[in-house]
Amino acid sequence: MNLGRELVGLERFEPVLDALPGPAYLVGGTVRDLLLGTPPRFDFDLAVVGDAPAFAEELARRLTGRTTTHGRFGTATVHYADGAHVDVATARTETYSAGGALPDVAPATSIEEDLARRDFTVNAIAVSLPDGDVVDPHQGIEHLRDRLVRVLHERSFVDDPTRIFRAARYETRLGFRMDPKTETLALISVPDVARLSGARVREELYAIFGEADPEAALARLRALGVDDALGVEFGPPGLQPRLRELSARYRLSEPLWHLGLLSIRAPAGRLDEWKVSRRIAESVEAAHREEPLLRERVTAARTPADVVRAVEETGPDTPLYTLAVADLPALEPYFDRLRDVRLELDGDDLAALGLGESPRVGEVLEELRRRKLNGELTSRADELAAARELIAE
Ligand code: ATP
Repeated sequence: MNLGRELVGLERFEPVLDALPGPAYLVGGTVRDLLLGTPPRFDFDLAVVGDAPAFAEELARRLTGRTTTHGRFGTATVHYADGAHVDVATARTETYSAGGALPDVAPATSIEEDLARRDFTVNAIAVSLPDGDVVDPHQGIEHLRDRLVRVLHERSFVDDPTRIFRAARYETRLGFRMDPKTETLALISVPDVARLSGARVREELYAIFGEADPEAALARLRALGVDDALGVEFGPPGLQPRLRELSARYRLSEPLWHLGLLSIRAPAGRLDEWKVSRRIAESVEAAHREEPLLRERVTAARTPADVVRAVEETGPDTPLYTLAVADLPALEPYFDRLRDVRLELDGDDLAALGLGESPRVGEVLEELRRRKLNGELTSRADELAAARELIAE
């Protein structure tokens, strides 16, 4: 099979094809997507049998671009045109001495060796450049046709249990299914996910949270028992779409990984183990802890100011999470308008009215804000009149 024509059709990639300083292979998800006929993302991964950073330097020179090199084994990124980039990696072999740990890496002597270290047959296809010939030693094309996620060998999940997460992600994104043997091997290795470092678990979960339908992938992982092995609960169906919808509706623009974390129930300290930043971990844990109380207080609130006070006594994620868990009409005005209510007066105005620096300044401002939230003050003049009255008391 030859993909030459398809490659030339990829506008952003064509300059790279013309500028290649030597033989290289297109690898990874882009090849899979090209073969599936879905528009590939702009992630072009090249593998070269040899010195990738030197190859990248020369490619960048020809494209009048620039390179950045990574600490990772022999990889570099070439940036060209405006914003386009291509990653170049040294073809490599990987051997695993301990399951769940990172592999020992060495340069490969052929692209076939490099393909043999990959996760699934559909991701182990290369396209030789510039001619476009397809290298498919593991029947990846056949499995694409049969919509199968299939490991390359029996020890695949033992070597790297993160592949269980990846399998669930590809199954749901591509509408594929693990073949029965791969599924059995995955099931056998599920307990091994407990041996992964927290940071690796986090990265796999974040990749899932970034998918169009994260809950489908998590439901699949739940069916395999990955939630139990991790000692967490993946959250009720519908929670993530609801968090996304509310975050967009109220322009909170929280990143998807953050919304995903909110949907997971984890024992105290687990987010720390996953190396989630302290600030986010605290906020997410607080949201889970405080949700019932905030719901109760907002339901009982008699005025808008009561709602705002209840919200302000919780962490930053609690109101969003509370609204996502179940409808709470009394909380909606908080996001619609109350959170934007600001006084026009400040401490300087109070000073001009004769109230010098003292704890009373804070009290007066708080009382003014309460009245403004409750709709009693609608202009600067109203605020000034109320401030005079309060200062005189
Ligand atoms: P995406 O998953 O975003 O569609 P992708 O298939 O390119 O894109 P990446 O996570 O960027 O996925 O990985 C690039 C390629 O590297 C994969 O296609 C696969 O061949 C290989 N790979 C990535 N992670 C692993 C892993 N844990 N084990 C083996 N091979 C892997």
